[in-house]
Amino acid sequence: HGGTVKTWKHAPKDFRALLEISRFHGDKVFLTYEDEHITYEEHYRRACTLARRLAEEYGVAKGDRVAIAMRNYPEWVISFSAVLAAGAIAVPLNAWWTPQELEYGLSDSGAKVLIADGERAAGLAGVAPALIVTRGEAPEGARSFADVLGEVAPDVTPPPVELSPEDPATIFYTSGTTGRPKGALGSHRNLGQSPMTVAYGMYRVMLKAGMDPGAAAGQRRVTLLTVPLFHVTGCFAVMTTTMFTGGGLVLMYKWDAGRALELIERERITGLTGVPTNVWQLLSHPDLEKYDISSLSALGYGGAPAPPKLLERITEQLPSRAPSNGYGMTETTALAISNAGADYLAKPDSIGLPMAVVEVKIADPLGAELPPGAVGELCMRGPNVILGYWNRPEATAETFVGGWLHTGDLARMDDEGFVFIVDRAKDMVIRGGENVYCAEVEAALFEHPAVQDAAVIGIPHEELGEEVGAVVRLSSPVPAEELQAFLRERIAPFKVPVTFWTRETELPRNPGGKILKTSLRREVLGT
Ligand code: ATP
Ligand code: MG
Repeated sequence: HGGTVKTWKHAPKDFRALLEISRFHGDKVFLTYEDEHITYEEHYRRACTLARRLAEEYGVAKGDRVAIAMRNYPEWVISFSAVLAAGAIAVPLNAWWTPQELEYGLSDSGAKVLIADGERAAGLAGVAPALIVTRGEAPEGARSFADVLGEVAPDVTPPPVELSPEDPATIFYTSGTTGRPKGALGSHRNLGQSPMTVAYGMYRVMLKAGMDPGAAAGQRRVTLLTVPLFHVTGCFAVMTTTMFTGGGLVLMYKWDAGRALELIERERITGLTGVPTNVWQLLSHPDLEKYDISSLSALGYGGAPAPPKLLERITEQLPSRAPSNGYGMTETTALAISNAGADYLAKPDSIGLPMAVVEVKIADPLGAELPPGAVGELCMRGPNVILGYWNRPEATAETFVGGWLHTGDLARMDDEGFVFIVDRAKDMVIRGGENVYCAEVEAALFEHPAVQDAAVIGIPHEELGEEVGAVVRLSSPVPAEELQAFLRERIAPFKVPVTFWTRETELPRNPGGKILKTSLRREVLGT
């Protein structure tokens, strides 16, 4: 109940073990997409069949890479399971990428086969290695998913491959918030611990919210997937966890708050885990009141900083729902630290306590542990931390030091062990030698009633090195002087932005829910 467990003996040791566990859920519906329903047994058979075809017809062997590029279709999940069951490494590619970016993912990973939907495949004919196409037309030289799968026998089993927990299993690309996306090489152990870590997290959410996990255990959980499967939140915090616990997973072609409300009512959704923007948009939807969303008991979000007013809005608008904020990275196989229930209400700015398998320290630039209250780099260690970056020995050496993952996030810990993110080290503005944490300035801006969204950035300055600037989206016009006066009441004068840019449309975000500051900087500064 909150302590640190250093060994985790009962986690599935590899993906094959997880797949076998999932089969116990038999005739229960696993995947729902529009009017399609796929049970656990059907998923198992299709995944094993595809694994065999990949091995027999495409020569996919242990350690080979197979890329997946598609929307959140059921075939995404079947393909992922198949690749891993064949002992190969699954490489989920970002479906928002352009054909050039997809090409980068294919060549960087050295994928032997690409499984893509028609939309993605169209731009990749001739570039992709062997191409298998789901949903939509197969370009010349490619085969359709249905054709490759062929007949699915009821007694099919995975191809015979020896797997060990240390074997690489996945290459997920990071969100690319601070630079070119890096391929994060995750092991079977990382993947196996994840559903138990998340299940533990859910258990903790219930306990902290005063709910009885025992009573909840008998209920069928149906989760709405609001985020892409090609990032770790969607794949691990949601999909493999569902697979482990036997719940239902409702897929959407793409996130849309109105559609989500319809689905919550129609599918009797019990929980939702997404990025903060999903929940924010759901609560802001003009038709929220029109839908029966009484089935919804848990609201989880994370992967990006949550707007400071989000928790307040949840407690006001949906008071009986248990909110939780999860912190995680591609490099930590999703969830690593989380805050829930009474703790969250008491410390709304905190990302909470480490998950059971995770050790956390706040370190100085040399890696030495700092005392409570001091700001330093958040570092983590545990079976959730990936093996390293694919093809990036320098980045690996910089980030994984002496067994610790250096997150690049600045944080502090209070004397009860709660972690507070201060800023991303790369976001911090250094103004005449003083550190300005963009996250702090953004939080202060959010307190202004007209501020809908805000991003603080550094502006190059001859004398000071950097000055503070802000891009804001406002609900009604507010002069910069008024915003500055408002901020001066809340933060030190040197932190107050000297320049404001207003933006009429939503700030650009990546699928991980993070503001793309590099493109904002380019937009306003031309650099
Ligand atoms: P890249 O590493 O390519 O620059 P990225 O770091 O955004 O991109 P991810 O692995 O998707 O890629 O995101 C991890 C980061 O997201 C963390 O390092 C942290 O900065 C941020 N983050 C995750 N969860 C939270 C949270 N609950 N609150 C605040 N920030 C969060
Ligand atoms: Mg990162």
